[in-house]
Amino acid sequence: MNNVATLDQQPLDAVIIGAGFAGLYQLWSLRKLGLRVRVVDAAAGVGGTWYWNSYPGARTDSPSNVYQYWFSDELLEEWNWQQRYPDQQESERYFNYVADRFDLRKDISFNTRVESATWDDSTRRWNVKTDTGLTLNTQFVITAMGPLSAPLVPMFKGQESFKGRLVHTARWPREGVDLKAKRVGVIGTGATGIQVVQTIAPEVAHLTVFQRTANYAVPMINPRYDDADRAAIRAKYPETRKAIWTTFIGFDIPGQTRPFFSIPADERREILETLWADGTLRLWVAGFAEVFFDPAANHEVSEFVREKIRERVKDPKVAEILTPKDHGFGTRRVPLENGYFTTFNRPNVDLVDLRATPIECITEKGIRTSAGEIELDVIILATGFDAGTGGFLAIDFRGRNGVSLREEWKKEVRTTMGLQIHGFPNLFTTSAPYAPVAAFCNAPTCLQHQVQWITECIDYLHKNDRAVIEPTAEAEQRWLAHHDEIANQTLVAKTKSWYTGSNIEGKHFRLLSYIGGLPAYIEACD
Ligand code: NAP
Repeated sequence: MNNVATLDQQPLDAVIIGAGFAGLYQLWSLRKLGLRVRVVDAAAGVGGTWYWNSYPGARTDSPSNVYQYWFSDELLEEWNWQQRYPDQQESERYFNYVADRFDLRKDISFNTRVESATWDDSTRRWNVKTDTGLTLNTQFVITAMGPLSAPLVPMFKGQESFKGRLVHTARWPREGVDLKAKRVGVIGTGATGIQVVQTIAPEVAHLTVFQRTANYAVPMINPRYDDADRAAIRAKYPETRKAIWTTFIGFDIPGQTRPFFSIPADERREILETLWADGTLRLWVAGFAEVFFDPAANHEVSEFVREKIRERVKDPKVAEILTPKDHGFGTRRVPLENGYFTTFNRPNVDLVDLRATPIECITEKGIRTSAGEIELDVIILATGFDAGTGGFLAIDFRGRNGVSLREEWKKEVRTTMGLQIHGFPNLFTTSAPYAPVAAFCNAPTCLQHQVQWITECIDYLHKNDRAVIEPTAEAEQRWLAHHDEIANQTLVAKTKSWYTGSNIEGKHFRLLSYIGGLPAYIEACD
């Protein structure tokens, strides 16, 4: 427990909300400027997403060589990634290593949830209140809650009556959940559901997967690394570290440059096969740009992936249910999978098509759909998040003249480049809507860019004796217009998913993430 009495006496330069990827780097960066900084996090440890999402099978879909910090050569040299796609445990170990290596913990208040942040125009400072009684007075507030930190826990009729165990993947108990020989139901087949299903199927007695929308997924190839692999990857760090800022989506792999339909059909097929066989997200993030805006190109790639799904599932009826038909490939987040589709060939796994037989209620014994009751010992909600906005709405932000962010965002969610919000001076917002971070960027790349931008901005203010910074309403409007103009040319902005907020009842249908590409975003920020 922190010493509350000492802490709240000291006026701070910055309060950072969240001790995940962005929060730790922001702390390190501002400390380097000599600022007094405190990080507040509701979790008991560092890691953010990688602290909370400890569900079975949780792992990154970004390779470790681009899912890491670039600020310290020593760190790059010392940390030994064990595999291409680190699992939750390895990722969490990494963040703990970083926290210890750079002595970050002394400035972090764990188990502390920020409840409100109120701007005082007379002092030109923020007052931050938390649920532990810790109050902080600070010049700047920097949000680092991550775009996917507010779990969506749908309330099914009768949910409270369930006598078994019901858990959301993003609030997975740290001590684990015993699934051995249990009858388990998983609701949700997004990136999370896919990982849970393929991981727990061999260990449970019976698994029932409740699918509302079928999902595309690409098979993951996840080699373990030995010293020689790591040496080869390290040797490439100088070029990797340059490349990530220049690709559309913050990975180190450039996309295809030839227009899709300028390539003969058989050659197109060959290229798709090569991208597919890569075992990475290359088909999506470094494939053909037309997939995102040209319905004909998207159709061809979608058909290619549908074929691959059908090939792997033995029962043609099950294969049809698992084959997405209501949206195109890449218009929702494409996960990597490791045996997901073949899991449905197992005798202990059933698939329930919620489009045909919707959930009516949760009962004492399990889940009742329109086709009958399925008895379960454990229900796992892999139902996702209130993305982009959820973390912000959990805090009562009050800006200039007491204006409430919750009320403002009921009318319209607005930010300036996902970095600041008009009416909320000295509030910097990593992972906010309308930056690429939430969806169209390898998060670590974009978060590091945002942290660097914020750090340089604060440094500039201090060096130039400026106390307050706030975007104008006009600048905000310009960014939103630019964001919408690009978004509306894409198929993504027309598709239902968390990217467009359509997974949350009443949320405005608008693409949350900037889709003009990282280089354009960086240029605009500059
Ligand atoms: P998600 O993509 O939003 O998927 C949620 C799933 O739950 C969907 O299948 C959704 O169906 C279903 N669902 C939600 N409410 C439901 C209801 N009331 N009844 C029935 N089904 C319901 O969430 P997620 O899988 O947690 O993934 C969110 C994001 O986290 C990912 O897109 C990714 O960015 C990140 N993530 C990354 C990794 C990784 O890097 N490997 C792993 C996990 C998550 P509908 O589609 O019909 O709404």
